[in-house]
Amino acid sequence: MRLFGCVCGQFHSPAQGMGMTGGRVEVPVPFYVIEHPDGVALFDCGLHAALEDPEDSYRRRLRRQDLDVSFGPEDTVTRHLERLDIDPARVRYVVLSHLHFDHAGGLHQVPNATLVVQRQEWAAGFDEQMAGRYFLPKRFFDLGHAVQIIDGEHDLFGDGSVTCIPSFGHTPGHQSLRVCSAQGDHILVSDACYNSQVVKSRNFPDYSDHAAMNRSLDGLLALRGPRTVMIFGHDPDQWGEKALLPSLRT
Ligand SMILES: [Zn+2]
Repeated sequence: MRLFGCVCGQFHSPAQGMGMTGGRVEVPVPFYVIEHPDGVALFDCGLHAALEDPEDSYRRRLRRQDLDVSFGPEDTVTRHLERLDIDPARVRYVVLSHLHFDHAGGLHQVPNATLVVQRQEWAAGFDEQMAGRYFLPKRFFDLGHAVQIIDGEHDLFGDGSVTCIPSFGHTPGHQSLRVCSAQGDHILVSDACYNSQVVKSRNFPDYSDHAAMNRSLDGLLALRGPRTVMIFGHDPDQWGEKALLPSLRT
């Protein structure tokens, strides 16, 4: 079994919006590929390919909220999978941390995958009020995929190697993923914590449930062993020039 980390473009936004300090920041939009003997699984799915176009309606909407993306043809989910010699049509699972556009956006590129989602998250996506409060746009996730609804912790392949860990709060049914392989023990935190500074500052997004986020992050930190690597949701230090994760880069 192998774990790969892929960067599907960058966000450009005020630092505060990403739980950081200073002026504007550029942060990565990662997703992950797990090649398991029983099939290929993705954790999150990056951005919709249409967001390459600066005039895309959702991208224009993001700009009005002072958030933009830089994203090119080499950054798509499809291109990353091709570089790994994986046909997108044979992706078996996409475990979604949550339904935000930068995590569910690339689902149109993996039509045969079964989505693995926490019950509260999927329900929120189809509840007008919750979807509005938490920014869960159906355009990106309501595409007719098979869906496996899960409640809490879930062992994806039944062998303990890949485990969904509920980490609610950022959105109602946010989840993280623990991957144990020959490469080590990785906790893919996703947006339960944007970056390493937030572990201390607890500078969470305004719309999130902060009490739940605190509990979730404490729970994830408690899972760490001596050799566990935590990979945060949008941490430029983990993906930049001095990347902490060169072994996972594609
Ligand atoms: Zn995100």
